[in-house]
Amino acid sequence: MTLVIDHIGELVTNDATEGDGPLGIVRDAALVIGGDGRVAWVGARSSAPAADRSLDARGTAVIPGFVDSHAHLVFAGDRAAEFAARMAGSPYTGGGIRTTVAATRAASDDDLRATVGRLRREMLWQGTTTIEIKSGYGLTVADERRSLRIAGEFTDETTYLGAHVIPADADPDDYTALVCGPMLSAAAPYARWIDVFCERGAFDEDRSRAVLTAGIRAGLGARIHANQLTPGGGVRLAVELGAASADHCTHLAPPDIDALAASVGGGAPGTVATLLPGAEFSTRSRYPDARALLDAGATVALATDCNPGSSYTSSMPFCIALAVREMRMTPAEALWSATAGGAKALRRTDIGHLGVGARADLAILDAPSFVHLAYRPGVPLVRTVLVSGVPAGGTPIDGAAQLTEATINGGHH
Ligand SMILES: [Zn+2]
Repeated sequence: MTLVIDHIGELVTNDATEGDGPLGIVRDAALVIGGDGRVAWVGARSSAPAADRSLDARGTAVIPGFVDSHAHLVFAGDRAAEFAARMAGSPYTGGGIRTTVAATRAASDDDLRATVGRLRREMLWQGTTTIEIKSGYGLTVADERRSLRIAGEFTDETTYLGAHVIPADADPDDYTALVCGPMLSAAAPYARWIDVFCERGAFDEDRSRAVLTAGIRAGLGARIHANQLTPGGGVRLAVELGAASADHCTHLAPPDIDALAASVGGGAPGTVATLLPGAEFSTRSRYPDARALLDAGATVALATDCNPGSSYTSSMPFCIALAVREMRMTPAEALWSATAGGAKALRRTDIGHLGVGARADLAILDAPSFVHLAYRPGVPLVRTVLVSGVPAGGTPIDGAAQLTEATINGGHH
């Protein structure tokens, strides 16, 4: 069955060959989805081919589904009190991770699964069609493997983050050896990526290098939490090891920016700078210098960092609004970073854009332009979400109002 989305006021394809400007915008557009769940045709509605079914966008904007390339969804417990204390003046140190670790270890599989499912639904309703999910609140061989097994029920983009924090009772060298040895062996079959929190009080540069190198040797792709709370060598380590993404990038020196920019030269996928403004918002910290990264030519992604401690938002539109208002990104740059940028941070070419052949993951907005995502912060503007061409929320085709459990990454192919 083919489907035409007709009467699109503003279609963002992120494909310059399909439309105007870097976002590849087509006005008064239509988009046809083939029976394989992929984009089959894009263009002016006046020349759209016929399809089996149609969905009227009523003159609104249609954008690629958001790609949230950084989220910690496998956890238990609640840290609202810690947030309230922080807003009353306590600093954020990352130490609260251990609170979540204790709750996560004590939780049942079904409890963890229910939390991931709830957050994934929140994300879907807000237009996110691909999510990355990290482990990192288990920190034992069994609990890290369990976290990744559950994450894998919801996404293909699973990340082993045994190197999230050194457990309170562990020796740093012994724990790093565990992360690089038996824990990695247990986690690798369930993970696509390996990640490390490279930070003072977590994993220093040498230990971070050991963790990522071990993961790469085990066949995992590398990504890193770098330069979040303090300056350091994390970003340069990411570039040196060919990591897909360096995440946070809040405290950068000029050589860090240069390294990120140089990594994307010559057609190489390079290391994406993934900015997570929800973390700065929720810890009342200085925002990353997105302008310096963009002006230097680095590839920038935006993601939620959804986690119970430092950024408990599941909303990509909120992150876009923060990026525009607080980090001086243009609305167009922010939308690109939240879609195509996230896809690049996951080294995916099938998502994050709506060119012919892309997976038909998209959001129909209750707004005439994507600019409203930042212009109307906090307003639920996502009306309909399609994952691989299948309606997943909001106003569905043929009037059957229901949220289907369409999986965000797969399940339809
Ligand atoms: Zn994170």
